[in-house]
Amino acid sequence: MKTPSKHTKFIFVTGGVLSSLGKGLAAASIGALLESRGLTVTFQKLDPYINVDPGTMNPFQHGEVYVTDDGAETDLDMGHYERFTQAVMAQKNNYTSGRIYFSVITKERRGEFLGGTVQVIPHITDEIKAAVLQLDGEADVAIIEIGGTVGDIEGLPFIEAIRQLRGDLGRAHSLFIHLTLVPYIKTAGEVKTKPTQHSVRELLGCGIQPDILICRSEVPLEDSLKKKIALFCNVQKDAVITAIDVDTIYALPLYLHKEGLDAQIENLFQMWTKQPDIGPWEKLVERIKNPEDQVTIAVTGKYIELTESYKSLHEALVHGGLANQVKVNLRYISAEELESGDPAALLAGCDGILVPGGFGRRGIEGKIAAITHARENKIPYFGICLGMQLAVVEFARNVAGLARANSTELTDFTPDPVIYLIKEWYDYRQGKMQIRDEQSDLGGTMRLGAYPCVLQAGTLARAAYNTEEISERHRHRYEFNNDYRAPLAEAGLVIAGLSPDNNLVEIVELANHPWFLGCQFHPEFKSKPMRPHPLFTAFIKAALTKKNG
Ligand code: GLN
Repeated sequence: MKTPSKHTKFIFVTGGVLSSLGKGLAAASIGALLESRGLTVTFQKLDPYINVDPGTMNPFQHGEVYVTDDGAETDLDMGHYERFTQAVMAQKNNYTSGRIYFSVITKERRGEFLGGTVQVIPHITDEIKAAVLQLDGEADVAIIEIGGTVGDIEGLPFIEAIRQLRGDLGRAHSLFIHLTLVPYIKTAGEVKTKPTQHSVRELLGCGIQPDILICRSEVPLEDSLKKKIALFCNVQKDAVITAIDVDTIYALPLYLHKEGLDAQIENLFQMWTKQPDIGPWEKLVERIKNPEDQVTIAVTGKYIELTESYKSLHEALVHGGLANQVKVNLRYISAEELESGDPAALLAGCDGILVPGGFGRRGIEGKIAAITHARENKIPYFGICLGMQLAVVEFARNVAGLARANSTELTDFTPDPVIYLIKEWYDYRQGKMQIRDEQSDLGGTMRLGAYPCVLQAGTLARAAYNTEEISERHRHRYEFNNDYRAPLAEAGLVIAGLSPDNNLVEIVELANHPWFLGCQFHPEFKSKPMRPHPLFTAFIKAALTKKNG
């Protein structure tokens, strides 16, 4: 195994008491605060579940699948990390137990263990440690978030691995931060520290003494309470940090800074940093809290019950609002409801309509009805991935006269497969031709990760990006069918973005419409609050114009 170079400092973030306390946001905020002190940061998420990656997991259960430039299908916390910092996430920044075991078992099959007994300790833990230590030298500080809650059976190998890493790395290069809950009991009118004490004891049982506690609480913790927690949990009082519920997630770094979190980290690492510059975060929150206007955007999808499934999309829309100094109200409308109901009534009062990415046949005709409504009533429309493909289908059917046009994903037969599985295409990321057909394995055939796209002059896309070549992230299987490029263009569809070899249609627009754009990629993965994505900025601007025009 690689020996630590002792250059990068590692922060291990664990969670206790219960899940959903916002560990990912806490980790991202730590990154933001360390960057504000002039340090470089990187991240890693270690997920205890057995799936090799979240690519095949149901968004209902797991939330969004976040895609990186290098085509990794990762946990949605990667999105928080990238949005809050400059760090660029990749394959090596997200590991699951499944991926760790898969690698160890593959080695065992190859005979690499020379007949030895393969065990959780040391083989699995060594594999985990090697995964973590890949980040050594990548940044000043690496923030490693352990998924799940301390005490979960499946998380134990990860906890054991980071316990060992403290020994390997030494105190000045490793830090344990534990996130817990300090519940407020209404009837007693007080907050309770017992769950935190138990959670820390659980961690101690695994050989880990946390250095800093971040206590999630509805109310700020008074000094006396911090003292009590410090006493029972063997940390210094100043290392007990409160994290109260903030009204915007982007206020979290500021709150944790006020609680002294970054100062504590500097202190415990015995390092010197420049004075933190949190000005940009203050300005951001200021902007979020003082919108000058508001717009309502309809998002029609399959997973509307769970906004976690559209995490990045939701954030990107907020960022687009920020760029225009407006508040964006999101109205999630079920595609199935649109199918059976009256689209005009359901979409009334919306200043823009967005159909996001998706897979499968459910609710498709409802989404198409929403697109027809946007096209005919000149309501700004933004179609992302599936939303782009359906815009092409809608246009083919209702404008170009191909009444039964469809995507081959969505029907068993169509005379006009305007969206289909392209047989051959040049893969810019892999630098080779890709061949696929209906028989190809579902898993291996996705176009994943960042691909270049050339924007045509005089288009909405070119105006929004204000540059000719862009790179955006993909996650889809089906493509625009080039046989239909000429007839659809003739009927008025604008091909606004293409792969550099002109083979893959990446963006379509409508000419006689204030703002109607569909893109084959997922721009939401590259939007940040400090750098709103140009397409979201332009879409919200168009919605605002529509509203006030
Ligand atoms: N289901 C479509 C495809 O596979 C779109 C995927 C998506 O929207 N991410 O091409």
